[in-house]
Amino acid sequence: MDQIQLTKSASTQLTEADLAKFNELMEASFEMAKKLLPFLVKRRIPLIPENYRLFYDYFLAIDTDLVRELNTALSSEDVFSVNTSRRLYKLFYHQEPDQAESILKMGERIGTISRNLEDNLGQSLNSTGHFQQILSDSVNLMKKGEVDAGEIKILLGGLLDETNSALSTQTALSNYIETTSCIIASLTAELKDKTMQANIDEMTQLYNRRYWLLRFEELTANYDSSSPLSLIIFDLDRFKSINDTWGHPVGDKVIIVCARIIRAFAGDMHLACRYGGEEFVILCSALGVEKTRELAEGVRKKVEETKITYRGQVVPVTVSAGITLYVPGESERDFIDRADKALYQAKSQGRNQVVDCLPE
Ligand code: GH3
Ligand code: MG
Ligand code: MG
Repeated sequence: MDQIQLTKSASTQLTEADLAKFNELMEASFEMAKKLLPFLVKRRIPLIPENYRLFYDYFLAIDTDLVRELNTALSSEDVFSVNTSRRLYKLFYHQEPDQAESILKMGERIGTISRNLEDNLGQSLNSTGHFQQILSDSVNLMKKGEVDAGEIKILLGGLLDETNSALSTQTALSNYIETTSCIIASLTAELKDKTMQANIDEMTQLYNRRYWLLRFEELTANYDSSSPLSLIIFDLDRFKSINDTWGHPVGDKVIIVCARIIRAFAGDMHLACRYGGEEFVILCSALGVEKTRELAEGVRKKVEETKITYRGQVVPVTVSAGITLYVPGESERDFIDRADKALYQAKSQGRNQVVDCLPE
């Protein structure tokens, strides 16, 4: 598409032809927006910046590969997923879509839509007020007998016009509200999905460290001593040598399997997160030290017993764990450091074991 650079210095030298071109481009993008938005809403395509760009180019139809890929995706998926958008975006624009940026933009769009809705409601209320004013003026004139038959006809004609105009405003408004509700529902779902995605580690589907920190702040801010918090930190044993012996993809598979075990043991009661590469934490609520140790021991045993095979051979995997209890008011760093100390001891005592380090 033609581009015009409207930089500060260039803008002073704009010719009539530039302005005409600019207006033409503006007109074209409005026309495009009119086609694009209903299309995205109707197909339930998430209204995220990546999709605006992809489908803008889809309608321009200059890149036939892009059109073909999007057609394939549209026909093979009931709901066009965010993963597909990201994959195609990367493929065609060779860029990672910026997630934080798109969350921000989505927030802005919801704000704009709400403001438009308020403006429209205001306009409709004004027109209803105007209509009522004309109606009561007309009735008053008629009551006073100050109008003759000809004038009544004119007044009624005026009322009819006002009624029609109020009705068309109402219809336009209800259409607008319907479309807007649809867009807001889609944006809200998308926003929720994106926010969740930002908290999840893609590889293991466990919560990530970012989420861990948020939840730690939240849980400790509302700390209740009748429901003590305890922590288990897990670190896979001699993992570097697993990577070296079996290769990185096998290492990844081991991480995924161990994460699944940890999640199963944590259940819905406790918070399991991937803390780093092959390190995991479980923040346990109301378990006390003995039950926490049992939980950690359960994970350790299950990892040891699980047969992870590669080309018919068993990859030997074990995990060590450190345990501690939360001291009210302490920082996340202090809490983790104490569990780490226990973990370090587990490693130095021969690995594949659970050790605790309780607060003094
Ligand atoms: P130790 O028993 O003392 O924990 O020994 P270790 O070899 O496991 O040592 P350490 O915990 O320091 O090593 C972690 C290794 O995990 C280093 C890094 O290359 C590897 N790693 C981290 N993240 C990933 C990942 O996502 N996939 C794979 N395959 N390897 C990873
Ligand atoms: Mg480690
Ligand atoms: Mg390790």
